[in-house]
Amino acid sequence: MKNYRGIKQIIKGIPASDGDGVQLSRVIGTSQLSHIDPFLLLDAFGSDKPQDYIGGFPSHPHRGFETVTYMLAGKMRHKDSAGNEDVIEAGGVQWMTAGSGIIHSEMPEQKDGLLAGFQLWVNLPAAHKMDEPRYQEYAKEQISIETRGESCTIFVIAGETKNGTKGVIENEFVSPVYWDIYLKAGAHLTEKIPPNHNAFIYLYEGNISIEKDNQNDESTTIKAIDKGELAILDNGEVLSIVANADSRFLLIAGRPLNEPIERAGPFVMNTKEEIQQAFDDYRLGLLAV
Ligand code: MN
Repeated sequence: MKNYRGIKQIIKGIPASDGDGVQLSRVIGTSQLSHIDPFLLLDAFGSDKPQDYIGGFPSHPHRGFETVTYMLAGKMRHKDSAGNEDVIEAGGVQWMTAGSGIIHSEMPEQKDGLLAGFQLWVNLPAAHKMDEPRYQEYAKEQISIETRGESCTIFVIAGETKNGTKGVIENEFVSPVYWDIYLKAGAHLTEKIPPNHNAFIYLYEGNISIEKDNQNDESTTIKAIDKGELAILDNGEVLSIVANADSRFLLIAGRPLNEPIERAGPFVMNTKEEIQQAFDDYRLGLLAV
C-alpha cells in the first residue's frame, strides 16, 4: 500500500435536473461514474434563482440505502409518510436510513435567496437493507468543529480526525468520514483516514493540490483540484493537502461493501428480483408502513 494518498481520477459533475425541475450537478451516479463503493450518488446544488429549486422534490420513495442531506445555505423541509417532519437549515445535516422504505418529500422552505447543499447516497449492506427506517438529524450548532489555527476549520459530521474530534453520526456499516473543510490560501492539511476506506474530495470553492510524500520521485505528480471537481483518492495512510486559494471542500470516505449493486431510480438493492419487489411493494402501498 502506498504511504500517501494520491489522486486516482478527477471528474466534473454533469448538469442534471431532478425532482420537480431542481437544477443540480450530479457528480456520482452518472454514466461516467456510477459509484464509489459505498457511495452511490452525490448531487451538488446551489442557486439564488428560485426557478432552479422552487419545485423541490415532491413525494417519492427510497429503499435499500441512506440519503445524507447537508445544507450550506437556505432551508429544506423534509416530510415523510410516517408523519416525521423537520426543516434542515444551513450547516445542518440529515442522515436518513431509508432501510425497508420511506416515502418522503424534500421541499425548499423559501421563495427566494440562495439554496445550496449536497445530497449523498450511502449504500447499506445486504443484511441491513430491510432494517427499520431511522433518522439522524443535527443542526449546525450540534456539528463538531475542529480549528487548526486561523487557516483551517473542519466541520466533522462523521468520522474522527487525527486530533480526536468525532462526528455525531453513527454508522457501523461503512464507518463513514464526512468532513466539510475550509482551508485558507497557502495552508496545509495533513490527515489520516482509514487506509482501506474508499475516499474522495469534492471541491466547491477555490483550488487545492494533493501533495505526495516524495517530491523528488519522478512518478510523483501533484495534481490540482478545481471548483466543481471530484477527486477519487488512492488508498493510503496519509492525506496531505495544500490550498492554492481560499478553499472549501468535502472529504468523504467509507469502508467499501463489495456487494452486488442493482439500482433503479430510488431503489438500490443487490438483485433484480429485489428491485422488482420494491416496485411491487411501492405500487401496493407496502413500501413504507
Ligand atoms: Mn429523497
